[in-house]
Amino acid sequence: LEKKEDLLLLKHISVEFDGFKAIDDVTTSVAPHEIHFFIGPNGAGKTTLLDVICGKTKPSAGEVDYAGVGNILKLKEFEIVKKGICRKFQVPSTFVNLSVYDNMRIAINHDKSVFGSLMMRKRYLDTRKIFEVLHLVGLDKKSKETAKNLSHGEKQWLEIAMLLVEEPRLLLLDEPVAGMGQAETEKTARILEDIKDRCSVAVVEHDMDFVHSIADCVTVMHEGAVLTEGTSEEVLQDERVKEVYLGR
Ligand code: ADP
Repeated sequence: LEKKEDLLLLKHISVEFDGFKAIDDVTTSVAPHEIHFFIGPNGAGKTTLLDVICGKTKPSAGEVDYAGVGNILKLKEFEIVKKGICRKFQVPSTFVNLSVYDNMRIAINHDKSVFGSLMMRKRYLDTRKIFEVLHLVGLDKKSKETAKNLSHGEKQWLEIAMLLVEEPRLLLLDEPVAGMGQAETEKTARILEDIKDRCSVAVVEHDMDFVHSIADCVTVMHEGAVLTEGTSEEVLQDERVKEVYLGR
């Protein structure tokens, strides 16, 4: 069996905050077109690890190798975004008084010249792409709706769509189903499975049913280190994983 080359490889990453090791020698990787979960008790270092990947936090040791780019640790946050690593934070980032469509237009043009965005051909292509991505997240029929009138789940999907129009290679999500009911959680699972065709998705998550339903790979973190890694079946049967969760 041919081994898939990693999209992202974290090598011996350590992060210190005033001498406290929040991440201690973590090595892990994200494969192309996979949904990769990072789970573990509070304080395990999951969020800090996503912060390292998107360039928000610089580690005290280690390397982050990104396929076709190399070590991205020297890059600034906005440069990492340009290279196709996009993060959705838990805090809302939509313009609540604008329509779904206008939010998408801002997302698609935020980094481009005004001149370019005025060209008819580009406008046409952008609009096509916007509706294609809105369709993917089930919001194409709500393009005229004001963002603040969307349900909690729809707002989350709009934010994901706003990242997808940038054609990321890796999408980073923080607890994407927090606050969602079962129907919205299941729909989010379907959306992430559809997204997999386009990019990899790395997710910090607490909802184990959600993890189990769609994970290709699960990394379990505990006290700043990787406890174990594998399919969700493998890690959930692991006695050490049961222990750290029960010992919470
Ligand atoms: P998780 O996301 O798994 O809950 P975090 O990555 O948020 O864990 O935190 C890991 C550890 O690092 C925790 O003990 C937390 O208190 C600490 N930590 C995180 N960010 C900072 C910071 N900016 N300054 C100091 N300590 C921090």
